[in-house]
Amino acid sequence: MDNNIKLLLGITDPNLTIDPKYQYTSYIEEKIIKNSKALLCHLYLSYPMYCPNCKTLMLHNGTKVVNNVHLSSAGKKLVLSIRKQKYLCPECKKTATAKFKDTNYHDHFSNAVKAKLVRDLSLSRPMCEIAADSFTSSNTIIRSLESVENNFKVNRNWLPSHLSLDDFKSGKRFSSSGMSMCLINAVNHRIIDIIPERNNKFLRNYFIQYSYKARLSVMTITVDLYAPYRSLIKELFPNAFIIADKFHVVTQAYTAMNKIRIIEGVNNHIKVIKRIAYGYNNFKHFRLRILISLKNNVIFFST
Ligand SMILES: [Zn+2]
Repeated sequence: MDNNIKLLLGITDPNLTIDPKYQYTSYIEEKIIKNSKALLCHLYLSYPMYCPNCKTLMLHNGTKVVNNVHLSSAGKKLVLSIRKQKYLCPECKKTATAKFKDTNYHDHFSNAVKAKLVRDLSLSRPMCEIAADSFTSSNTIIRSLESVENNFKVNRNWLPSHLSLDDFKSGKRFSSSGMSMCLINAVNHRIIDIIPERNNKFLRNYFIQYSYKARLSVMTITVDLYAPYRSLIKELFPNAFIIADKFHVVTQAYTAMNKIRIIEGVNNHIKVIKRIAYGYNNFKHFRLRILISLKNNVIFFST
């Protein structure tokens, strides 16, 4: 397997080679797996391994075949059938198996597949379509979605100087009133967080988690017309000036209006996501799908 083929397939492990058993025949065969045509690629993984206990060079101790689902090729499911070297330490008798760099330990799908799933989730694509396209199940997609959760951890010690709060219809599954809120940085229009409920009690408990210093740094807050939480905002953000009346803002400052328009755009986007993400019963998954799809500061994909 030369470097060009590895580059085409997105394989980065330098120790992966064509299985010597198939060197005189084709190492890629077409097979029917679970009622669909798949390409089975016979590969071999071996490298000198030193014992993690006593640092002795380990001896070869047979092989083990592991199937990994990789990025589809020519519109077909591609399965890397890797014959992995097993090792035995001559000193302490410890055993080990060669590790494939492109797949996490005990994982059935390669990291490239999982990166593609996250990329697909950031587009407005229904989950069933993503699953069919990448020959995975919805459970795998949900696991990929959960894997990015750490990227969206909210920093409770910081808030932007100009904040926007916008409510949107999220349904009774997530909120008792059927409405949730979107917290947006009004300057760069990056979404900060999704708040499931919009009642005063919930909002107080939510914002009180931010440090007092962070709340003091907020200079303006843009909210909807007739928002019932205005007194709460004054209490939680003592330095903040509330921009509420859109029409008033238009006459006062054109730039402020622009901010609001962009927030409305975010709201429309959430509506689209809700349509395509119909069936999300878990707020965590719903929140991540919105955060991943909208403008954010997170970079998931290595080049
Ligand atoms: Zn050893």
